Amino acid sequence: MSYRVVEKFVSVNGEGKRSGQLAIFIRFAGCNLRCTYCDTMWANKDDVAYTAMSKEEIYEYIKGTGVNNVTLTGGEPLIQAGMDDLLDYLCRDSELTVEIETNGSVDIGNFSEINGNKPKFTMDYKLASSGMENRMLLNNFTKLSNEDTVKFVVGSVEELHKAKFLIDRYRLLDRCSVYFSPIFGSIEPETIVEYMKDNVLNNVVLQLQLHKIIWSPDKKGV
Ligand code: SF4
Repeated sequence: MSYRVVEKFVSVNGEGKRSGQLAIFIRFAGCNLRCTYCDTMWANKDDVAYTAMSKEEIYEYIKGTGVNNVTLTGGEPLIQAGMDDLLDYLCRDSELTVEIETNGSVDIGNFSEINGNKPKFTMDYKLASSGMENRMLLNNFTKLSNEDTVKFVVGSVEELHKAKFLIDRYRLLDRCSVYFSPIFGSIEPETIVEYMKDNVLNNVVLQLQLHKIIWSPDKKGV
């Protein structure tokens, strides 16, 4: 079994609970969605150049860096054939913290029974401006635990209302971490802060995409 890896590098985690910490990124080819604001569409093209890597090769690369946070991303990493096997292999190493950035359209329940050190999900909920909201699996909300994160990718006040509705309906703040992440260029972070204040959204975290602050918004490999 080999995996289609389009990028692998060490940087700082830009999202989720370990934001700001060093992490190894393994980016896999392909995505089942086509969000209007996607900034990694190049990785989703059928003819994208990739390196075929076995789970052993991926593990050796990770261990060779000496960094313990691992972020599996894409594209959509959970649609890679054999991802359960790779997760099982990586999670046996208790020094590693394995995090999966997933787009909310794949059933995470298929990947939660992993031996060893359970992987952590940072799961997006794509709101209307993505054009993909009808692909979101609401049932995923019931499968999250306190090591996991839901990230609402918001582009307008209407989308903040929808996010709040879902937070309340699925009692997300009792289950996991909840983040608001602005769509770059669509909504000002200040508007989100005002919304959080007006609605007293205790424990919701505003998350700015660190990579877009530190580097140019379209820089790859960071
Ligand atoms: S889910 Fe992520 S990678 Fe896939 S199209 Fe949307 S933004 Fe791009």
